[in-house]
Order: sequence, then structure tokens, then C-alpha cells
Amino acid sequence: GRASSGTRKVTLIPGDGIGPEISAAVQKIFTAANVPIEWEAVDVTPVRGPDGKFGIPQAAIDSSIKLITEEASKRVAEYAFTYAKNNNRKKVTVVHKANIMRMSDGLFLRCVREMAENFPQIQFEERYLDTVCLNMVQDPKKYDVLVMPNLYGDILSDMCAGLVGGLGLTPSGNMGLNGALFESVHGTAPDIAGKDLANPTALLLSAVMMLKHMELNTHADKIQNACFEVIKEGKYLTGDLGGKAKCSEFTNEICAKL
Ligand code: ATP
Ligand code: MG
Repeated sequence: GRASSGTRKVTLIPGDGIGPEISAAVQKIFTAANVPIEWEAVDVTPVRGPDGKFGIPQAAIDSSIKLITEEASKRVAEYAFTYAKNNNRKKVTVVHKANIMRMSDGLFLRCVREMAENFPQIQFEERYLDTVCLNMVQDPKKYDVLVMPNLYGDILSDMCAGLVGGLGLTPSGNMGLNGALFESVHGTAPDIAGKDLANPTALLLSAVMMLKHMELNTHADKIQNACFEVIKEGKYLTGDLGGKAKCSEFTNEICAKL
């Protein structure tokens, strides 16, 4: 949304566990980079249900059943190809198990296949999930942009996070019709919460994805470069990357670069 004097409003959900610490780190870095954003923090504490128990709202529980629709599949497919085109990527691979999940994955596969015809400049291939898992570990260069049903993406993205250095590094974005949501791939990491030990990179790069989505590319590049430089120098790494730095020390180093 729009806020005063050219700044834009962004909803921030710090969550729990390491959430508040890494959110504070991202806010500090954004301030150092003069990003024209006004944060609006929102609490998502679980609600009390009719049975008196606290938990996730029933509507949310009613939804993650494996329901695959033609409309949503086409939207996902179109996003993947448009993303590839806009980011100069060469190939889109659809990952599926349509050989055994004939109805759901079969529909998804058909939708992606049809969409591929609208993007002749992008290479297109179809691969089984198990094959992709094997290749991803042995030779990830085989792939470029991957598109797949939600559950496969959930599992494969964690595996890929492990390959590039862990959950503390990988960002994510959820693109909707009326907005987008960006979050780190990891959870609340209760084992290190409240100790200033978490790596804020995953959340920071998610926020950088958000800046690109908002077409604030200059700010996005500046922050991403500062973050990558601090990691490359290796002097202020958090524990997950084999260093001894606190979350706040790593954050300050990024701010100093900015
Ligand atoms: P949740 O149920 O909220 O997902 P979890 O116990 O599964 O919590 P995750 O956040 O998914 O924990 O992370 C798994 C492990 O990876 C954590 O225990 C933590 O050691 C490590 N980890 C995750 N995120 C980070 C981070 N940002 N920085 C450092 N280590 C992390
Ligand atoms: Mg988890």
C-alpha cells in the first residue's frame, strides 16, 4: 500500500521463536539502506476455537487436502514462465509424479505443458520428482527454473537449502493475485531463540525479493550485495555458517557496508 511522502506500507509479521530477532535485524538493515518503507507489524497469535483450545483457525485447517485445480495450475505455470522470461532464465522444468498421481499431477502437468507453448523462447522439459532429487544432489546445474505442485516444492526447497548452506540462507515469496507474501523458508528455530544467534540472511533475502517485487531494485541490489560481501569475507558469520558472530554483529557489519 501507499503511505506518506513516497514511502510504502509493508505488513510485517515477526512471529515467534527467532522471528522477532531476525525481523529487527532486517528492519535495522533497511533503515541503514534508506529503503522508503513504513512497517506495520501484525501479531498472528493462534486464535481460541469453539472448543476453547488455542490453535490455527479452522478455515486454515480446512484448506494445505491436496486439491489441484486447472485455474490455479495455469496461474502457477504462467508465473514460472513469466519469471523465467523476465529474469533471462533459459529453461523451465516441470516436476511431477503423474505416473502415479494421475488425476492431480496429471492435470498440473497438462496445464504447464499448454502454457509452455506460449513461451517458445524458453526451453521446457518434464521430469519425475525422484529423478530431480537424485540429479539435484549430484549435478544441480542440470536445472534452472523448476515448477511443481506445492508439496513437492516444500520438500525439494528444503533439500536445496541444505545444498547451499542451510535454512538460515534461503528466502521465499508467495505470489498471489492481490498481493504477495515473503518469508524465510525456516521455522521458529526454538533451540536458538532469544539468544541472538540466528542468521537473519534468509529473512533479509526474502525482504530483498519483496523490494524487487515492488520494483525498488536499486535498494534490493545494494542490500543483497552488502549481505553477500559480509558472508564472503567470512569474518562475521553466524554459527550455522561455522562462525562465532551474533545475529546483531552480522547485522551491524551489513549496516556498516551500506
Ligand atoms: P518450527 O516448528 O517452527 O519449524 P523447527 O524446530 O522445525 O521449528 P526450524 O526453524 O524449521 O526449526 O529450523 C530447524 C533448525 O535449523 C533449527 O533448529 C536451527 O538450529 C536451524 N535454523 C533454522 N533457521 C535458522 C536461522 N535463521 N539461523 C540459524 N539456524 C537456523
Ligand atoms: Mg521446521
